[in-house]
Order: sequence, then structure tokens, then C-alpha cells
Amino acid sequence: MKKVIGTSLLLFIYTFSFGQFALDTIESSQGRMVIYSDRTWELVSDIGFDGIMNEQVYNLFSSDTSYNFVQTWDNEVCFTSDRVNDLSKLKDTVWLCVGDSLHSKFVMPFDGYITSRYGFRKGRYHNGVDINLETGDTVRACWSGKVRYSKWNEGGFGNLVIVRHYNGLETFYAHLSKLLVAPNTEVKAGDVLGLGGNTGHSRGSHLHFEVRFYDAPINPEEIIDLANKTVKDQNLFVHKGIFRPGAKPSDYYMQGDGHGTEVATVAKVASTSAKKYYRVKSGDTLSQIAAKNHTTISRICQLNGIRQTTTLQIGRQLRVK
Ligand SMILES: [Zn+2]
Repeated sequence: MKKVIGTSLLLFIYTFSFGQFALDTIESSQGRMVIYSDRTWELVSDIGFDGIMNEQVYNLFSSDTSYNFVQTWDNEVCFTSDRVNDLSKLKDTVWLCVGDSLHSKFVMPFDGYITSRYGFRKGRYHNGVDINLETGDTVRACWSGKVRYSKWNEGGFGNLVIVRHYNGLETFYAHLSKLLVAPNTEVKAGDVLGLGGNTGHSRGSHLHFEVRFYDAPINPEEIIDLANKTVKDQNLFVHKGIFRPGAKPSDYYMQGDGHGTEVATVAKVASTSAKKYYRVKSGDTLSQIAAKNHTTISRICQLNGIRQTTTLQIGRQLRVK
């Protein structure tokens, strides 16, 4: 990925701008870079980067011709395999390190309530988990890696950042209001990727977070303990059982996600069912109230026009249905 160079070299480059060719290589704070005649530059480490973050893992998957799995590096598309990978057909179990000694740190992309989990929902698959946030909240990389994609997505993700990690897993951060990283940037766990939002096929601000391996979605809860905000186990056994049948990326694009329809359906059900209220007692929290009344925090917030951070006055009548 080439970048436009700063002004210091412009004059020099202008003099020689007869078509694009490499003019020079210089050392920079980011590493050695090549300067081209069309005022662009590229890190030497990016030239010819094929997207393979871990040779060992890649060789395991690519050596067996019965898999024929593809993984390349592309900043323009969500899925790099041209949608041929079907990991539900895996024959072996591959032992993957979620974190190695250099990249073991994990950070929740956003510390919010889970409003929707991975799985089959209303006739469709929800390929990630939804984390409640407000537009403008900071979204962070959960593991270290390299930004493969950071742009507007027509498929429904809205503003989307995809980070490829050193074990070959990718994480998706969707519906962002603002993108704050460029493709090919190396990020560490906890680095800011963008601001949460409500872009694409989304009703209400939230982060749609996915974990994928060679384009196929994995339930993030196979790896992440969402309640404790930690990695469950540094060992991930990749086998066909953790991929749903036919979990090819072609099944996805956002029609596999229910954001838009889900909210509409919930609203319809609510309007036909009896309203129910709950009087706030001393020591009550929204999560306790939600659990007691078999509903969700976001639903209570929606019904009462409050935020998760709203202080609950004792004695207040909260609508819970
Ligand atoms: Zn979602």
C-alpha cells in the first residue's frame, strides 16, 4: 500500500516525476521505505507482503490439497479467498495458539453489554456478537496484528475495520462512525481502530464484532469469555465442528445478519404484548432488573428512553415489557 509522502521531499520528487519509478530508499521511524517518482512511498516490509502472518499455520492449511484453502492480502475486499474456503469440511484438527509469547495480550474491543450473540436467529445466521455502545465510543483491537481493511463496506457492515492477527485469525469491527486506522498499519492489542457507530445495516449504535478464520466465522465465545473479558484458553483447536455447515463467506454478506429486521421484529412484538412495569428498589442495577424480568438492558433503555449510564432513582417505574 503506497502512501503520499510528506512535503519535505516533494520538491525533489517533482523534478524527476517522469512516470513512476523507485527513486530512493530511506530510513524512517516506521522502517526502511522506498520513495517513488509519483510522490508515493511504501515500506520495504510491505512490498510483496502476501498476508501470511504465520508460515507454520499457513503451511498446515495450504499443504493439504484436499482443503485448498486460500488466504491472501487484499485491502479492498472483506474476504480474500474469493469465497472458496469451506472450513466445515476440514478433515483434521489444527492446534492454533490464540496468543503466542509475543502477542498474547487481549483487550475487549469495547467494554459494553452484549446485546446479541453468535448463532442462528430468525432464519439467519448472526456471524458475530453485538456489543452495545454509543456513537463515538472508542473501539480497540482485541489482539495485535495488521489492519487488512479499513473502509466503507457496501455489504452492510458500514464502516468496517478488519485486523489480521499473527495466528491467521481475523477480527471484524463493524458499523463504526469513524475509521481511525489505515490499511497495512500494524496494531497492538488495545490500539484504537475507530469510533463506534450505527453505519451500514444497523439500527441503533452498537459494535458488531466477528472472529473469522480463513474467511469463515467462528463463534467469538469459542475463544473469548465475554463475561470476564478474557481469552478462555490460549489453545484453539480448529476443527470442522467449530464452523457451521456451509460456513463459506459466500453465505454471508450482511443478509446473514439480522440487525435491521431484528429490531423491527422486537418492536412489533412489544406493541402487541401487555406492558409491564418494575419499580426500582435500593441497590438495583439495570442488569439485575433485566435478568429478573427476562429482558435485556438495551430493551429497557429503549423502552424508557434512558442510557445504560442513567442513574436509577429508587421508586422509579421502569417499563420492562
Ligand atoms: Zn451483529
